[in-house]
Amino acid sequence: MKKWLYYGPIMLVSLALMGCLQMQQVVMAMTAQTTMTTLAQSIVINRNLPQVTMITATLTPTPTDTPTPTVTLLFTDTPTPSPTNTPLPPIEPTPLDPNFTLHVPILMYHYISVPPQNADAIRLDLSVTPMQFEAQLLYLRQQGYETISLQQLYLAMTLQTPLPAKPIVITFDDGYRDAYQQAFPLLKQYGYKATFFVFTQPIDTYNIEFLTWEMITEMHQAGMEFGSHSYTHPDMRHRDADFLVYQILGSKEAIEARIGEPVRFFCYPSGRYDQAVINVLDSAHFFGALTTQWGDSHSFNERFEMSRIRVRGTDSLDTFAAVLK
Ligand SMILES: [Zn+2]
Repeated sequence: MKKWLYYGPIMLVSLALMGCLQMQQVVMAMTAQTTMTTLAQSIVINRNLPQVTMITATLTPTPTDTPTPTVTLLFTDTPTPSPTNTPLPPIEPTPLDPNFTLHVPILMYHYISVPPQNADAIRLDLSVTPMQFEAQLLYLRQQGYETISLQQLYLAMTLQTPLPAKPIVITFDDGYRDAYQQAFPLLKQYGYKATFFVFTQPIDTYNIEFLTWEMITEMHQAGMEFGSHSYTHPDMRHRDADFLVYQILGSKEAIEARIGEPVRFFCYPSGRYDQAVINVLDSAHFFGALTTQWGDSHSFNERFEMSRIRVRGTDSLDTFAAVLK
């Protein structure tokens, strides 16, 4: 009897406390989820909303559109729910001069293979044979060109970090399997690196025309850079935010999960884009995006409309050399 008098109230109080704690956890979880969803939507859909820096305890709103040459901030966007454990970029450099312009050729390739007998005009135009490609690499080496990554080019544009005397970027679109079978061995042989833009649906579905995730991991470990070329290679123009997020973040996170580092560059499928695409890329912390427009001058202000030089299968080595001059 005495025991009940002593333990009874303690047990009642304990039970009440446990109940309160559980309720509190439920309420906290609900609030957090609502906040996360709302924040994620605002970050992606409305880029005019200030992003939040989490460096200090105070929340400092910072406009994303106009880069200010004052302080480099850490944009962590902690509340954004992400299906993967992709590390978010620790630092987005603030440009010393957003108009500072560099002239660096970015070569654009698609297939490195002998086109099939029944190839149509488009396939012929997009195909450079391994022999042609090797002759071009040899020419580049004789002329003293050194390949750089897009990340290096971006840092040179923003922070004016030094580049080699004759820098060049080599890019491949679409992620065809010959990138691994033909281009990759030749690049290694010449001590060159390149950037490969893959769209990830054919990789996920084991399409034998395209790279596998294992090939991508191996190439990345050998120093090759990877960028996103969307999920299904659609026309990205006139699309709503959900579609763009699905296409852009879907492939970005799929690649990041394999290579273990942030994907910083996007390449517009068939060179088609509009301002809405740029807004989503900017919100998703891309450093820049590549078009199919002809040119070799690049600046921070034009980082989402970077121009390239298309290498055609019909080009002779003389044409290739002339284009670079
Ligand atoms: Zn493409």
